[in-house]
Amino acid sequence: MALNPPLNRKLRMGLVGGGPGSLIGPVHGIAAEFEHRCTMVAGAFSSNPERSRQAAPSYGVDESRTYGSYEALLDGESRLPEGERIDFLSIATPNHTHFEIAKAAVEAGFNVVCDKPLTLDLAEAEALLETVENSDVVFALTHNYTGYPMIRQAREMIQAGEFGKINATRCQYIQGWLADTSEDDNGTLAAWRTDPAKSGAAGTFGDIATHAFQLGRYVTGALPESVSCHLKTFVPGRQLDDYGTAVIRYQEGALGIVTASQVTHGRENDLELEVDGTLGSLKWRQESPNELVVRRKGQPHQIYTRSPGTGTMTPLAEASSRLPAGHPEGFYEAFANLYNAVFDDIARRASGSPFERRDTVYPNVYDGVEGMMFIEQCVASSESDAAWMPLSYPAARQ
Ligand code: NAD
Repeated sequence: MALNPPLNRKLRMGLVGGGPGSLIGPVHGIAAEFEHRCTMVAGAFSSNPERSRQAAPSYGVDESRTYGSYEALLDGESRLPEGERIDFLSIATPNHTHFEIAKAAVEAGFNVVCDKPLTLDLAEAEALLETVENSDVVFALTHNYTGYPMIRQAREMIQAGEFGKINATRCQYIQGWLADTSEDDNGTLAAWRTDPAKSGAAGTFGDIATHAFQLGRYVTGALPESVSCHLKTFVPGRQLDDYGTAVIRYQEGALGIVTASQVTHGRENDLELEVDGTLGSLKWRQESPNELVVRRKGQPHQIYTRSPGTGTMTPLAEASSRLPAGHPEGFYEAFANLYNAVFDDIARRASGSPFERRDTVYPNVYDGVEGMMFIEQCVASSESDAAWMPLSYPAARQ
């Protein structure tokens, strides 16, 4: 079979971020290479050139393609012959750096896979959207939970009308790792996340509530209208929220709740989505990602499992599975599912074929702007005693 048809070759990846001790950069490397459709060939793994060099061997990146800054990477790669330079750049650096790196990469003509949230604030996000729209690059945003097969199953079952009209969504992301440790104890992970200059206007709401909000949007397709939010900071001395709840009114009449916490003792990565429709309801948890609980009106409860080949899965969910039922698939596989769809579009662009830019399988720059609007309006609402704030975004995906 051709690799990345019609290119018939592996794609070449560059990574910014992912230096020693970092969290998500190494995940990008593993997920992108999961299906052997790409090889990482270049990186600026840290803003410190020495630490960037330290990280390179663990990614198998040659010294000649290890750069001390993203500027040097873009400059160096742009000078290489077309058949050698990177096809895409993944960005896994703290939030305040996303805008400048992504904008420069898009302007240099590189496809981009950027981690969330898109930027530091909404103004940057809108400026980046304009840059992307003025280019022909593929741009993806790694709200990676949308890659789970049973999340895609939920989306396709809702799209097919199996749950009737959607009345309500409840989505919560509950962690405990910032409950009683000081920012210093958690090293770089906590240091930038709790610093408004690096994290943005929100803490926990920017870091993980955005995943929860976006997951509800992706699964139901419901378009937000307005939001009312309460944010709290429970750990003394912390500058940003570490807990909060938002109520969302959707344009079609549904009501949504997003709750996020990073201070709930003992909770790990408990992302949970429930959707109520007029014909039934569903529930999914990322800590048991291979199951989707469905309760249809007047019928016994059902648990759909990730079980390719049994005829119980929807097409995209089936295509997003690798192993037979019962062998657990998880975080890496879901992340790799985003990359797979991105690679299809990168190959289309490289061969001059048209590709979709807004209603993509993977989250994209439009979802990123909507996520930044969610963060800013939640903060504004919370500062005004939970007043309702508009949350409709004209360019949102359906
Ligand atoms: P981290 O602090 O663990 O790692 C960040 C890395 O970026 C470090 O190696 C640091 O040296 C490097 N870096 C910082 N500035 C740089 C620059 N200008 N050039 C090159 N490298 C630079 O942070 P993290 O937890 O990996 O988070 C990174 C991003 O990914 C954040 O935006 C975060 O919100 C997002 N994230 C997403 C997920 C997800 O599930 N999608 C999970 C965690 C983090």
